[in-house]
Amino acid sequence: MSETLIDRRARLMGPNVPTFYRTPVHIVRGEGVWLWDAAGNRYLDCYNNVPHVGHCHPRVVQAICAQVGQLNTHTRYLHDGVLDYIERLTATFSHGISQVIMTCTGSEANDIALRMAQAATGKTGIIATDATYHGNTMAVSQLSTRKPPIGGRWPNVRLVPAPDSLRRPDPDGSIFAGHVAEAVQELEAAGFGCSGILLCPMFANEGLPSLPHGWLNKTVDIIRAAGGIVISDEVQPGFGRAGSHFWGHDKLGFAPDVVVMGKPMANGHPVGAVATRPDVMAAFRNAFSYFNTFGGNPVSAAAALAVLDVIRYEGLQDNAARVSAHVAERMAALRHPLLRDTRSNGLFFGAEFILDNGQPATRFCADLVEVMVASGVLMNVIGAGRNILKIRPPMPFSLENADVLMDRLEATLTSTPVPV
Ligand code: PMP
Repeated sequence: MSETLIDRRARLMGPNVPTFYRTPVHIVRGEGVWLWDAAGNRYLDCYNNVPHVGHCHPRVVQAICAQVGQLNTHTRYLHDGVLDYIERLTATFSHGISQVIMTCTGSEANDIALRMAQAATGKTGIIATDATYHGNTMAVSQLSTRKPPIGGRWPNVRLVPAPDSLRRPDPDGSIFAGHVAEAVQELEAAGFGCSGILLCPMFANEGLPSLPHGWLNKTVDIIRAAGGIVISDEVQPGFGRAGSHFWGHDKLGFAPDVVVMGKPMANGHPVGAVATRPDVMAAFRNAFSYFNTFGGNPVSAAAALAVLDVIRYEGLQDNAARVSAHVAERMAALRHPLLRDTRSNGLFFGAEFILDNGQPATRFCADLVEVMVASGVLMNVIGAGRNILKIRPPMPFSLENADVLMDRLEATLTSTPVPV
């Protein structure tokens, strides 16, 4: 028998290489919000935020092809592309954020953000939530809670309980701020001081809790009073996904010192970035300089610029707001004995399932996702208990697409057995 792709991955890439789904999907083609597997089955993509403006968007493809046919170099030569891009990108920020370092991944960008916090404050303590993921470098993985670091977490790291609007209501953010204040005190007592806090303004990996505008203000005040900086990880919320706002931090209503970006930036071409005010940038550049061979190369800059163009010309932020309202309404009408909460934040949706004994319905959600995928709708789960459906489609997701998703979800909820 010939070797399967899964066996071949294990042989060539080692064990425990992540794949989605019990029967991993072998995707061979994409267009817009649709994907096709090797057997010709079509899937509605309700999961992927990397193909932000739609799989294989012709304008992005054309921008990449044109630039790669003309020039691609490392980033120590002068080139207009990256500067044109940074001008367009920084025009989307308020709060004095006007300078950028380009990277290839969100992990690298977060790693830089941590070092910016150190350079700007002269301190080393850092705070994140206890149910997050910010990337995979040695430093950033200290803040990622899925696999604990070997030898234990570094002593300058404090993880505070993640917001959970269903189980631990905290309507004005004062409970969260209280945990942050304790962490600041501990870091100061241990001699590290507080260099800052790193968080996603949607708390997406934590489970997409419903949080009102201004919810983070108390936390921000505590960090600032301690001399630290606030880093907004916009890898998931950014670039219009929040619908009402281009950036998640503006939607939640706080002014970050540093903004980290990644996945959706260039529609699948590997581009990340970290943006900040000139004072923070100067502290970082003076401490570290920083060079990234590929970050912001001409092809990456062209791809990222094309994404900004498409968001604007196709009205994708408005589309996110419109489709969000429709899906949120249909989600609120869902009925199931284990369904405890549905939530939305722009074009990002969650549905939380809890067993009668109060435990997360982890297995049930996994079963649900499998049935959805088998029926041609890609999605997944989030949250520490992996019991919250994660629905985060590409931005051109239409009202019609939304009805396909919701019709299938309703039917699947009816047909998937409730665990006893
Ligand atoms: N920050 C957040 C919030 C993420 O979800 C991720 C990836 N899932 C990252 C950072 C890391 O990005 P990358 O995989 O591009 O390094």
